[in-house]
Amino acid sequence: MTTPVTSDAPARPRHVSIPTPIVPPKRRAPEEIAAASTFSGERRVLLAAPRGYCAGVDRAVVAVEKALERYGPPVYVRKEIVHNRHVVETLTEKGVVFVEETDEVPEGALLVFSAHGVSPAVKQSAEDRGLQTIDATCPLVTKVHREAVRFAKQDYEILLVGHDGHEEVEGTYGEAPENTTIVNGPWEVDQIEVKDPDRLVWLSQTTLSVDETMETVTRLKERFPNLQDPPSDDICYATSNRQAAIKKVAPDSDLVIVVGSANSSNSVRLKEVALEYGARRAERVDFAAQIDETWFQDAQTIGVTSGASVPDVLVGEVLRLLEDYGYGDVEEVVTAEEDIVFSLPKEIRKALQEVEANDDVGRGGRRRSR
Ligand code: SF4
Repeated sequence: MTTPVTSDAPARPRHVSIPTPIVPPKRRAPEEIAAASTFSGERRVLLAAPRGYCAGVDRAVVAVEKALERYGPPVYVRKEIVHNRHVVETLTEKGVVFVEETDEVPEGALLVFSAHGVSPAVKQSAEDRGLQTIDATCPLVTKVHREAVRFAKQDYEILLVGHDGHEEVEGTYGEAPENTTIVNGPWEVDQIEVKDPDRLVWLSQTTLSVDETMETVTRLKERFPNLQDPPSDDICYATSNRQAAIKKVAPDSDLVIVVGSANSSNSVRLKEVALEYGARRAERVDFAAQIDETWFQDAQTIGVTSGASVPDVLVGEVLRLLEDYGYGDVEEVVTAEEDIVFSLPKEIRKALQEVEANDDVGRGGRRRSR
């Protein structure tokens, strides 16, 4: 267990606040909804796959759980470990304290950096406070950080396509602030000022809309023809795969339900992509109780997906609610198989190895004493 040192009191806590999602005030019975339906015929669900947890989210959540097991509560986490209300609430119940900044963490305590990554300045501030840290940054975000550092060292200017203010973008920007300009979308391209249009590279946030990013890059290349591409795609496999799956489901759906939190970039993008690809209506919900049954009145076919930070249990609850309203026929629409697994952060692997080694010594000791 980590022992907070009390000599340097932490700043007044500004713990991460999670807005309460709106829940429909009155539930309507399935018969009432059926009577008001604007269609006849069988209802069905198209369940997009892949959906839900990606390898980076799984790794980050397991890292926090293992830290709790190894050190005991409290374990501090800077920002939401992943952008999902259910995950954050569940970990809070187990003894995790989510904070906005390192100055809220008692000196010497254990702090986990979230999957979205942090800037070198944040790491430095944690070191200055003597915090023990576990870096749960997704390896695919770390890859983008490394690219930023490498291009900045080669004196490139970096056009970082992403959402200003998003934690991941703050972290990547912080690797090379002097060399980086954030580009929120195609509408900003004309205002960008660069020192040398022949020494430019673009990088991106990992969870953007694939199509919108390409639109931004096309506009950038029209303006800066010598703009260099990143060495490999920055938009990650999980984001691309979930968008590809919902593109397939959306044209046949009267309603698409995206399970995911409002601050989850990839979940919000899924709703946008669903509408863009033909869903007549799309709604994002944190959990099943947020679904308004009146949405079903015009929806013979409902598409369902979930963001990369959403545990499957939440999708299961949505499917159970849909079944109650006559949508028991569920067809999974699979567009890719995923088998990527990331190893745990090195700090937690080392801690677990130490525990194993101690256990071995203990077992050996017992054997010797027989
Ligand atoms: S969405 Fe992509 S970048 Fe983000 S944690 Fe998952 S795998 Fe990593």
